[in-house]
Amino acid sequence: MATVKGDVHDIGKNIVGVVLACNNYEVIDLGVMVPANKILETAKAQNVDVIGLSGLITPSLDEMVHVAKEMERLGMKTPLLIGGATTSKIHTAVKIEPHYTAPVIHVLDASKSVPVVSRLIDAKQRTAFIAEIRAEYQAERERFANRSNRPSLISLATARANAFQTDWVRHPIHRPNELGRQTLENIPIQILRDWIDWTPFFIAWEMKGKYPQILEHPERGEEARKLFEEANALLDQIIAHEAFKVNGVFGLYPANALGDDLELVLAEGETRRFHSLRQQTQKGTDKANRALADFVAPKSTGRQDYMGAFAVTVHGAEALAAEFEAKHDDYNAIMVKALADRLAEATAEWLHAEVRREHWGYATEENLSQEALIKEQYDGIRPAPGYPAQPDHTEKITLFEILNAEKAIGISLTENLAMMPAASVCGLYFAHPAADYFNLGEIGEDQLADYAQRKGKSIEEMRRWLAPNLA
Ligand code: SAH
Repeated sequence: MATVKGDVHDIGKNIVGVVLACNNYEVIDLGVMVPANKILETAKAQNVDVIGLSGLITPSLDEMVHVAKEMERLGMKTPLLIGGATTSKIHTAVKIEPHYTAPVIHVLDASKSVPVVSRLIDAKQRTAFIAEIRAEYQAERERFANRSNRPSLISLATARANAFQTDWVRHPIHRPNELGRQTLENIPIQILRDWIDWTPFFIAWEMKGKYPQILEHPERGEEARKLFEEANALLDQIIAHEAFKVNGVFGLYPANALGDDLELVLAEGETRRFHSLRQQTQKGTDKANRALADFVAPKSTGRQDYMGAFAVTVHGAEALAAEFEAKHDDYNAIMVKALADRLAEATAEWLHAEVRREHWGYATEENLSQEALIKEQYDGIRPAPGYPAQPDHTEKITLFEILNAEKAIGISLTENLAMMPAASVCGLYFAHPAADYFNLGEIGEDQLADYAQRKGKSIEEMRRWLAPNLA
């Protein structure tokens, strides 16, 4: 098992490892950021029965296709399992399986790993199981090819004509109280822990259900309570021993939209550009084809608007998890990483509130409950590059440069633009009260070409980054 090259996320993979080990499978875990040749050489040398690939960010999908092609080229016959947040049965069937003759199977979650592996290895079940999967994936491909509910795309020009509208003459714009960049080091975890959204914590442990209701669930409540108590006890220890260090950096800048781009003024005469992508699917009446640039005043209005950028990170999780792993305590090793992820998201939520209330100061009166905060019922958004409103991970390069994020708070980017440490969050700040987390959806070749030109990159390079969104 390995998390593929360029990706650093491994909680799900590690849970699969524990589940398989508990069922008497011997697991060789190669860790994270593992290049194809290392995975395949190890698989051969150790004569493994099954190879499992994991990944969280979209570029990892492409890397998995690469691994499958390599396996085919080398004439391998080992079954290939695919798992992780952005993977899916449909992607596996359409994009990966056609490249490899031996079985390729998507594994939805850790609980599915044991039945899949056992049926693949069992001489009696194997042939029928593989035939069943093949037929299922063939049907997936046919369904995909003949999609009847396929959204029809409109031209980029038509989409732009249907942009989200703001009355920029009347729209109130709040000049940030503090412009420029600020770094926050060693943010007290005691403060941050109150900002944790625990629902995704249970999802990370593959327990579905909403917090806090899950604690009272008739069947899963007891297990959920135990997990929650142990998580908080470990967090107490982490705080007592200063095992984590939480840092953040953010900046607020004058900005205006230039078409679908956003121009920030870092200092007099010094600008940087972010690029946004516009929804291109046919919308019903009254629905706009949105792009993030719609939430900032166009330069042509003559009004100075503002936007921000931030990055936060939790240091120390890798080292502490390694200590637990050395003691063969896989449970706590996973727990450490799950807590670090939660704290990183909590820091993003906390910092966003600080910015709204003080540093930018457009929401000084805001006083929302914990629940309302988690539902993000405040004015403004913090979209993350690589997520549905702006799926282009390469925008992180500009964001990191502006914030000096690597030097300021010690986050680096892998070749596929995953952030290291894994427990990191970054994004842009928009104050517009109507700004929301839309899903870009599919885009057309016309927008790909236009976007590549705006970014000064080749169409082929941008195609690779935007592959999952191309119609
Ligand atoms: N409370 C949750 C928040 C994570 S998801 C947690 O603790 O895990 C919400 C964050 O993901 C948003 O703040 C934003 O940064 C990002 N996000 C969600 N949907 C997005 C979208 N459509 N486009 C861009 N970023 C998005």
